[in-house]
This record gives sequence, C-alpha cells and structure tokens, in this order.
Amino acid sequence: THFGERTVPLEEKQGLVNQVFHDVADRYDLMNDLMSGGIHRLWKDAMVTELAPPKRGARPYRVLDMAGGTGDIAERILNASVGHAEVVVSDINADMLRVGAERARNWRYPAQASFVEANAEQLPFEDNSFDAYTIAFGIRNVPRIDLALKEAHRVLKRGGRILVLEFSQVDVPGFDAIYRAFSDRVIPPIGRVVTGDAQPYEYLVESIRKFPSPQLFSSMLVGAGFKRVKHTSYSGNIAVLFSGWKL
Ligand code: SAM
Repeated sequence: THFGERTVPLEEKQGLVNQVFHDVADRYDLMNDLMSGGIHRLWKDAMVTELAPPKRGARPYRVLDMAGGTGDIAERILNASVGHAEVVVSDINADMLRVGAERARNWRYPAQASFVEANAEQLPFEDNSFDAYTIAFGIRNVPRIDLALKEAHRVLKRGGRILVLEFSQVDVPGFDAIYRAFSDRVIPPIGRVVTGDAQPYEYLVESIRKFPSPQLFSSMLVGAGFKRVKHTSYSGNIAVLFSGWKL
C-alpha cells in the first residue's frame, strides 16, 4: 500500500487512515460537497433507492451501515423507510461517529439510529442479525477487504443484502484525462484550503486509483459467499454500486 510518497505495510495502513479521518472529521461533509460538486448526494440517494428499505413489516428492518462516518446513508435509509428501519452506524473512528451522532439529533427518526465503534474486519455483532449491510466510500479504506466482506456475510441474515458504494477508475475516453487532472490538481488544494492539509487528500486520490476494478471487486464478493452479484456505474464510472445477496 502507498501513502503519499511512501510505501506502507498493511499493518500500518489502518493507523494512517484513522489519522486522516480524525483530522478531517469536523469538515468531512463540507469537503464531500466541495469536491464532488454535491454529486455524492445523488449517488447516496441512488444507493438507498436500490436498497428500497421496507416502510412496514412485522419485524424491524435492521441495517448495518459500516464505515458509516457522519451518518449520511443512515439518515437516508431512515427517511426512505419512514422510520421503520433500525440502523446501526458503525465506524472505526470515534471522531467521525461523534460528528454523526451530533447531526443525528436533527434527523427525523433519531431514535432509530445507534452508533457503534467497530472495525469492519472484526465485527462485534451476532451471526445472521442484519437484513442489510451498507458501506459507502468505506471499503477502500479497510486494509483487509476480504476479511471485511466475510464479516459482512456472517452478520447478514439469509436473504440479506450487501450494497457497496465506492469510487472507481474512470474509463470513458477523454473524460479519464480530465478526471485524472482534477484529482491531482484540484482535490488536494481544496483539501489544503478547507482542512489545512493536502496530504489526506493525496491519500484519497491514491486509494481510489488502487481500488480493484469492478470485475475484480465483484469476484471478491463472490469469494466471500455472496450470490447474484452485480454492479451499476454512476457518472462515467466515477462511482460504482455493487450488490450481492446472502442466500
Ligand atoms: N459512509 C460515509 C460517507 O459515505 O460519507 C463515510 C465514508 S469515509 C470516506 C470512510 C470511513 O471509513 C471513515 O469514516 C473511516 O473512519 C472509516 N473506516 C476506515 N477504516 C475502517 C475500518 N477498518 N472499519 C470501519 N470503518 C473504517
């Protein structure tokens, strides 16, 4: 794994990732809007539309939003289910969760959300306990993706679904060069202006470039036991939504 100019071993990656999100937690939401021109909101909306959480039912619809950070996905799921869902927002970073929990006070269904500090590679949840597992722009930060996917499969009920939203490599001719220039020349300077440091955003750009192709990531989902794996590209492949089922 590379981190800025340096190559870092896998065991060190998590510590560096944690430092990045510790540093940016308070300005994380603003940065997302600035860097994506607000488009991350549309991708997140599309993810929750695809999940289509039920609005009623005999039992609560339990969702684990992993790497849930400041709670963007959780809030959307609660709204889409008009408060029928119960969402556990889980993240390895206490600072991100703190910002999420503060924001949740202004949500429509705050009582339906809980916040749990945990590592995606080793979850403190029971087997077969969730109807859905969502992770948005989180999986690429996890050092051992295969372990995280196995854990996702373990905690899902049979018939449960995983949705993974992640950045991908733009492969549209012409647009790829523009996106590359934007990533190198625009993102780190915006990061420096807003958070005082460009380095976390160099990490961001690099982690996106290193993330497996949609085909390879799909095969990792299959390897973890998921069935009916498919993916959908958004915005010329800037983001990709993966779906799989525990059957
Ligand atoms: N899901 C939110 C969103 O879409 O805005 C936050 C995404 S943020 C780019 C990535 C999150 O992954 C951070 O909050 C970070 O703390 C979390 N993360 C990194 N490594 C993790 C791990 N091993 N387990 C759980 N969360 C992790």
